[in-house]
Amino acid sequence: MIETTTVFEIEDRYGSGAYGKRPTALVRGQGAYVYDQDGNRYLDATSGQGVAALGHCHPAVVKAISEQVATLITSHESFYNDRRAALYTLLSSIMPADINRFFLCNSGAEANEGALKVAKLLTGRAGIVAAKRSFHGRTTGALSLTWTQKYRKPFQAWLPAVDYVAFNDIDAACRAISEETAAVVVEPVQGEGGVHPANVEYLQALRERCDQTGAMLVIDEIQTGFGRTGKWFGFEHAEIVPDIISVGKAIAGGLPMGAVCWRAAHGPIERATHGSTFGGNPLACAAALAAVSTIRDEGLVDQARVTGRWFMDELNAMNLRGAREVRGRGLMIGIELRTRVTPALKALQEQGVLALPAGLNTLRLLPPLNINREQMSVVAAAIQTVLG
Ligand code: PLP
Repeated sequence: MIETTTVFEIEDRYGSGAYGKRPTALVRGQGAYVYDQDGNRYLDATSGQGVAALGHCHPAVVKAISEQVATLITSHESFYNDRRAALYTLLSSIMPADINRFFLCNSGAEANEGALKVAKLLTGRAGIVAAKRSFHGRTTGALSLTWTQKYRKPFQAWLPAVDYVAFNDIDAACRAISEETAAVVVEPVQGEGGVHPANVEYLQALRERCDQTGAMLVIDEIQTGFGRTGKWFGFEHAEIVPDIISVGKAIAGGLPMGAVCWRAAHGPIERATHGSTFGGNPLACAAALAAVSTIRDEGLVDQARVTGRWFMDELNAMNLRGAREVRGRGLMIGIELRTRVTPALKALQEQGVLALPAGLNTLRLLPPLNINREQMSVVAAAIQTVLG
């Protein structure tokens, strides 16, 4: 084993420098827990940035990956594959009836890149409308949709022009969306931006305005998808059907995968207009089949809704001195603090709980969907100690 301090030194010397790192070397995960190499255990209320919706190393995912690793790891989409076909069938069964076209890729940002290309191909237009405070990823196209200046500003000159409108402002959105708009892109709950849920009426108005103008309504479900908000997808809270959905994070139980999903009524895209070497590889497809079917079979969408509601009630009942507001949907929970979030995250980790920031002053919890109440009570107690 490499000494912990040596791990830090090597990563700091050779790493890109792009990440602010916590001084902890995680080496193992089991269920809702992760372990550092010095034997300390943490309750992972980050799910590895929203990826480990089933917790770490869920047996169904481990089994599917192990079997597929010994069968066929890679096979390009120019050939057919049984695992991919099974995954399409499964995705189609959990999505709204008309969402029946899928492009498989390898990350959330790549899914949003694909969503923009699909929107452009389907409409023949170039205009893009996105929301202030949004986060959609860090590749060139996805970054152009991302509001936060910190991420976007150094690259401004490369990026397509986007109309940014205030989130949840129906009038501003309706004014910005026109017959020139290809894509209106929005998160059903803004994650990085501070855990702000979209109002039901706002999503419904976007749907209506897109219908009037022929623009594609693109819902970014990368963080909210696969049960996180207590529905399979966050847009379902507003009872709308988007034209295009981008997914990632939790889809493959921890393996890298993303997908662009769109209405079959819009048809397939033209051959060779998009592609990916790794996209739709049998290993990721096998992992996704296991992860998504386990979320379904273990009833975790409902469990996330019930646990999330109970937990937010618990937090509200604590009347936390350090908190301005508790908000969220399902197990996507934000606690807006009166102060900066970083010291609170550090103090929580000292209590054995890992949480995330969302902006400068919101503490974000994305625990595994199958976390139990006993474990969530440990999270609540740690929060009370830190923010009491
Ligand atoms: N969109 C949303 C809403 C996200 O939360 C994220 C990542 O946090 C992304 C896109 C980008 O995903 P990835 O980091 O897999 O590229």
